[in-house]
Amino acid sequence: MSNEVITASPKHAAAGVDYDAIIVGAGFSGLGMLHHLNQLGLRSHVFEAGTGVGGTWYWNRYPGARTDSEFYYYSFSFSREVRDAWKWSERYPAQPEVLRYLEFVAEKLELKQDISFNTKITRAEYDEDRNLWRVTTAQGEVFTARWFVSGMGVLSAPSTPKIKGIESFRGQVYQTATWPKQGVDLSGKRVGLIGVGASGVQIVPVIAPVVKDLFVFQRTPNYVVASSNYKVEDDWMSKIRTNYDDIHKQAVSHGFAVPFKKPTVGAKDVSPEERERVFEEGWKEGGFHFMLETFNDLATNEESNAYASDFIRRKIRETVKDPLKAELLCPKDYPFNGKRPPGGHGYYEAFNRENVHLVDIRANGIDEVTETGVRVGERHVEIDVLIFATGFDAMTGTLTRIDIVGRDGLVLRDKWKDGLRTNMGLAVNGFPNFFMILGPQTPYANLPVAIQEAVGWVSRAIRYAEENRIACMESSAEAEEAWAHEVHRAGSATIMAQGGSAHAWFLGANIPGKPREFNVYMGGADVYFRRCEEIASNGFRGFHEGALATA
Ligand code: NAP
Repeated sequence: MSNEVITASPKHAAAGVDYDAIIVGAGFSGLGMLHHLNQLGLRSHVFEAGTGVGGTWYWNRYPGARTDSEFYYYSFSFSREVRDAWKWSERYPAQPEVLRYLEFVAEKLELKQDISFNTKITRAEYDEDRNLWRVTTAQGEVFTARWFVSGMGVLSAPSTPKIKGIESFRGQVYQTATWPKQGVDLSGKRVGLIGVGASGVQIVPVIAPVVKDLFVFQRTPNYVVASSNYKVEDDWMSKIRTNYDDIHKQAVSHGFAVPFKKPTVGAKDVSPEERERVFEEGWKEGGFHFMLETFNDLATNEESNAYASDFIRRKIRETVKDPLKAELLCPKDYPFNGKRPPGGHGYYEAFNRENVHLVDIRANGIDEVTETGVRVGERHVEIDVLIFATGFDAMTGTLTRIDIVGRDGLVLRDKWKDGLRTNMGLAVNGFPNFFMILGPQTPYANLPVAIQEAVGWVSRAIRYAEENRIACMESSAEAEEAWAHEVHRAGSATIMAQGGSAHAWFLGANIPGKPREFNVYMGGADVYFRRCEEIASNGFRGFHEGALATA
């Protein structure tokens, strides 16, 4: 192996490699990473499967797609140029607006010239003799780089269940996560929708007024929290602009990486009247405010959680007029937070429409898809269009669906076959000079803030390696064991541990055969960020102690 240390000079890759760094994906992660590495003077290149930037926001074009987080913390704060010029129009921006934002980021920061679009990466292999990564595209081209960074996203590998008979269906079939760019005309159609996670919950109220009939095939009902969307007025936007640094600072000191007030009491510790008042206030404020700003123990205490779960069930029963539908829509056998709660924009109200039908598939699932519809037990539902809103092989799917080959031919998906091992979700023993932006075991949190922190940390790590003549940044196996232990400990202490029965993606429980374990860190984004800072300021302890660490 070569111990040559590369000192970057602006925009000229080190001798013997095509690029200093190859990044996969041009969503929030890839764009943020590219910008940070450009600032280090490295010659970096992004490969992106889509024809444009955006990642999640490029692919998920289904009707109703919008953020569940508010604009002011669902964006980057690191670029003054971007934040001074960009104006958000809605409290919860819709997909086209987030996509325009990321295009704007790419243009303002002059990133596009370093991105190859329409280029899917199928393999990345570490060459130990030359201490570089060899990255192969679907077209068969091979590029080399010293650093290899995944920005492939956490909820980006769509999962479509194999339902018996699907190939015989004569109508149209769509997946929310790969919705056609040109849109789909659903007007006057009989539409079947499978899946009522955040994606399904968003699509229902938007297509309900357009379609002839909408049949929602529901296996597990969700706790859908009111969102309360409205326009962003100029004075609100200007206030946010002048406070971006403080907002980010507040977000990184919050367990969910949002700039929220931290409640100081538990739901079980106040009177029933006070509890109701606080819940009602949080419900009106909307979205994650209900989950995070009302009481401090909804994710950790069963009694307090039961009050919140009950409050939401009462809201469902008040909203949905048909008592039979209302009961079916009420989650009863797992707690609030047992799955990631979606934000609703008229979701429950949509079930008051005569053309919206709820088909309960809890007991036996869908039996088969026929040429003309869907069969559930004795009932055959005739449809023209079938939409899958069935989620993702979360956290690991993008990384395990391609061949990432480390030292001694070790393939990442094999390494994780029986359980996850990462160092802080950022690096993996056996995979030198490889970093993941939001790899598995990173916090369960608001993603743009977590991404901003991660790209900052990785660029610091790379600069540290360059400056300290460390040819090989490789995480130690001991650090991985310690982190796996902490991820398990933190997750087990939460209500989220009960998400298994509800097929929660953060436990890998939505993918048949996937090991059931926490795929995210539930111990708090704030705790995680502090730990990352400690590691960085202690010479990236645990991150260059692999077999071939120093030059
Ligand atoms: P999801 O939450 O995993 O929901 C998938 C849905 O498909 C569930 O209702 C699931 O039912 C159903 N399903 C899966 N396989 C099925 C089968 N064989 N038969 C019947 N139903 C089946 O996926 P998602 O809605 O795409 O959301 C995933 C995550 O992406 C969210 O939690 C969120 O983090 C993110 N997301 C965010 C936004 C936003 O912020 N605006 C929007 C969309 C997604 P079971 O529950 O019974 O398994």
